[in-house]
Amino acid sequence: MLGLMQQRPLLISTLLTHAARHHGSAEVVSATGSGGVYRTTWGETERRARRLARVLQGLGVQPQDRIGTLAWNDYRHLEIYYATSGMQAICHTINPRLAPDDIAYIVDHAGDSVLCIDPGFAPLLGGIAARIKDTVRTVVVMTDAAGMPALDLPGGMRLLCYDTLMDAGSDDYAWPEFDENTASALCYTSGTTGRPKGVLYSHRSTVIHAYAVALPDVLDMRATSRILPVVPMFHVNAWGIPYATALTGAALVLPGRHLDGASLARMLNQERVTMTCGVPTIWLGLLQHLRSSGEKLATVKRIMTGGSAAPPLLIEAFRDEFGVAIEHGWGMTELSPVGTYNAPKPPQVGLSGEPAVRHMLKQGRVLPGIDMKIVDGDGRELPWDGKQFGDLMVRGPWVCSGYFGDPPGSACDADGWFATGDVATVDADGYMEITDRSKDVIKSGGEWISSITLENIAVSHPDVAEAAVVAAIHPKWDERPLLLVVPRPGHTVDPDSVLNMYQGQVAKWWLPDAVVVLDELPHTATGKLLKTELRSRYRDYYGKTTT
Ligand code: ADP
Repeated sequence: MLGLMQQRPLLISTLLTHAARHHGSAEVVSATGSGGVYRTTWGETERRARRLARVLQGLGVQPQDRIGTLAWNDYRHLEIYYATSGMQAICHTINPRLAPDDIAYIVDHAGDSVLCIDPGFAPLLGGIAARIKDTVRTVVVMTDAAGMPALDLPGGMRLLCYDTLMDAGSDDYAWPEFDENTASALCYTSGTTGRPKGVLYSHRSTVIHAYAVALPDVLDMRATSRILPVVPMFHVNAWGIPYATALTGAALVLPGRHLDGASLARMLNQERVTMTCGVPTIWLGLLQHLRSSGEKLATVKRIMTGGSAAPPLLIEAFRDEFGVAIEHGWGMTELSPVGTYNAPKPPQVGLSGEPAVRHMLKQGRVLPGIDMKIVDGDGRELPWDGKQFGDLMVRGPWVCSGYFGDPPGSACDADGWFATGDVATVDADGYMEITDRSKDVIKSGGEWISSITLENIAVSHPDVAEAAVVAAIHPKWDERPLLLVVPRPGHTVDPDSVLNMYQGQVAKWWLPDAVVVLDELPHTATGKLLKTELRSRYRDYYGKTTT
């Protein structure tokens, strides 16, 4: 017997119409650069998204067409998110920090017919225009008429102004109803190992993910919350925040392109932000600014950090100096992106001091809806004892089933498990901790050493700004850890004193065999350490130094 409940499709447009109807005056604030802000509301955003849908129809956009964006977090990007998905087209966010060659590949592979770009990305577009001219018919620059850049595009590709189109548009659009499994948005992985792959979200997966990230034990979003996603809308849907804020009626504060500590502190305090989200590098920049300026955070209570492991010093410094909780989330493009969040259960509430920090280093418990397991090299499930680490597998309604262009189910096994490529432990309370990317783990004499654990210890040294641990080939042990460190400005790193930090913290055989001091470390387009490059640069280090 089937249940007798209504089948209303879970559509992204319903998030926006809900926000407009019930939280119409809730704010959407965007930084415009040079200290200025643009203020609008959820009500106005819904009206303008309908207008934009009409504009896009006028440009010939059809259901399931891909609309690429190269843009920062601001109100125009938000309008594009909702207009494209709402009209049954696909919002394809592109990471402008990728290599131009990868961007051209992605636009072409996705088959974007329209590209919406911030004016600052005009030179980038100019550089790849010849390579995407068979796909892209229209480039819309997200600015007013006065801000239009001079851009010489190949024949057949037209250049239009967003504000001019919107001024001439009409609001008489009505959001259509269609199957909730329809594709809504597309985002490519960063492709640090091979070509980027497209993850194709659906309306259903996006709406369910929005419900999950809004939960109290995740972002705890309410109509009284004011959320600033530093995490970019150009990658992994800004962790679902543009959708979850509409769902809950929370105010959305969009920081634009200035993400330095001073600009962020100003925006956070001026806009009375209660919660903000981003990668550890951003919070290190904010911390440095707060320390040097003496400024405080007046209203921020919690910071969600993810994308790479947060070092302990970050968690301690924000807690002890600024009264702000840094909370770990974990996810990936293939998970829409959030999979776990570190919120306490009753046993963790009383933790304080070092055990509390130790616990907060974990990436957290799964969001309800996500199923997780860790397996050994033969696919056998490992126990949740917080010690044994294995390959992390997940499944759930917002986990990728197949990559764009591939058949459904081709990205996971027969039981729907998706191999994340991360290596993790899970403790008895269900808290997962990433110990490595599977390709970054160091295999020494048949045993595994976690590079992240070693990096976290190195960055707790007062002279170290950043650290990377990579596997270097070793004549006896196959691989041994090599520690690469960047000194803090004005400091000198003494390798022995860094190595002393490991005493008592890890098994002796985990100790890096050598320390190399560098001026800087390479990063990916999403701010992660570019370990592939470091590995290829240093893989023979011990071969050369061991006689
Ligand atoms: P990319 O940006 O490189 O395409 P994603 O944004 O999808 O990839 O990043 C996913 C990966 O980032 C995860 O598989 C994991 O290795 C890493 N990651 C994400 N969150 C965390 C976290 N909180 N701690 C450690 N690593 C994380």
